[in-house]
Amino acid sequence: MIRGKTALVTGSTSGIGLAVLRAFAAQGANVAMTGSRPADEAEEARREIETSTGLAARYFQADMSAPSEIAEMIARVMAAFGAIDILVNNAGVQYVAPIEDFPAEKWDLVLAVNLSAAFHAIRAVAPGMKSRRWGRIINMASAHALVASPFKSAYVAAKHGLAGLTKTAALEMAQHGVTVNAIAPGYVWTPLVERQIPETMRARGMTREQVVEDVLLKAQPTREFITTEQVAALALFLASDEARGMTGAILSMDGGWTAQ
Ligand code: NAD
Repeated sequence: MIRGKTALVTGSTSGIGLAVLRAFAAQGANVAMTGSRPADEAEEARREIETSTGLAARYFQADMSAPSEIAEMIARVMAAFGAIDILVNNAGVQYVAPIEDFPAEKWDLVLAVNLSAAFHAIRAVAPGMKSRRWGRIINMASAHALVASPFKSAYVAAKHGLAGLTKTAALEMAQHGVTVNAIAPGYVWTPLVERQIPETMRARGMTREQVVEDVLLKAQPTREFITTEQVAALALFLASDEARGMTGAILSMDGGWTAQ
């Protein structure tokens, strides 16, 4: 039962994070929505959660590439709700380019948001979860935590790193009632995927249709995008009491991609 628990989902104003937040709110959890944009720009998404669930949703702004902003945002969420019981490290960015053309600042940004932010957030919530002997940490990894694709060096390195962080944190908290798992989705149709299409067209010299069919869907034997709701359902299960025995797992939901 997650009713009455508090869930913080990073990067939850769109895509997978928003779907996870919506699923948690629908089960009666208090939800903290976060994003890098000012509150007024996230207002529509926040209000939609309230309208669809009848429960209060609050928005907290933080740039997840800045460790001090992460710590400060988590302190504000704890002050508002009293505790954080469920943490979903979901914020992520992508950049697509060959290594020799990959801007160093894009490498730093992708590593900061997709990997280091999870470390800073886990570090901040772990003491409270351990002391209450209940906690759920879910890291949004990727099929790229398990296999690589060309032109995504920073993302693949960050997501492989996130898998390692997941396993390490799971071992450290295994006897404290806190589980730490990662979800490894294949391609999910979200703004993150849409935005990488022009970069991939440039890097591979392809048309938009070729990128969708021959790069994205070609990776997945089902030839279908995963939906945000499917990912949210798995997150909901990982947050449940029934998932108590699952920890340190990297769970694929990738249409068969990494089975090949
Ligand atoms: P999205 O672009 O809709 O969501 C990403 C979220 O991260 C957004 O809310 C964005 O505002 C937030 N974010 C990005 N940079 C930030 C920053 N500096 N500070 C604060 N917030 C920031 O994309 P999505 O596809 O829903 O991605 C969510 C997660 O799922 C990411 O970690 C992504 O790597 C992962 N993922 C996505 C796919 C996919 O195919 N869409 C596949 C595997 C894994």
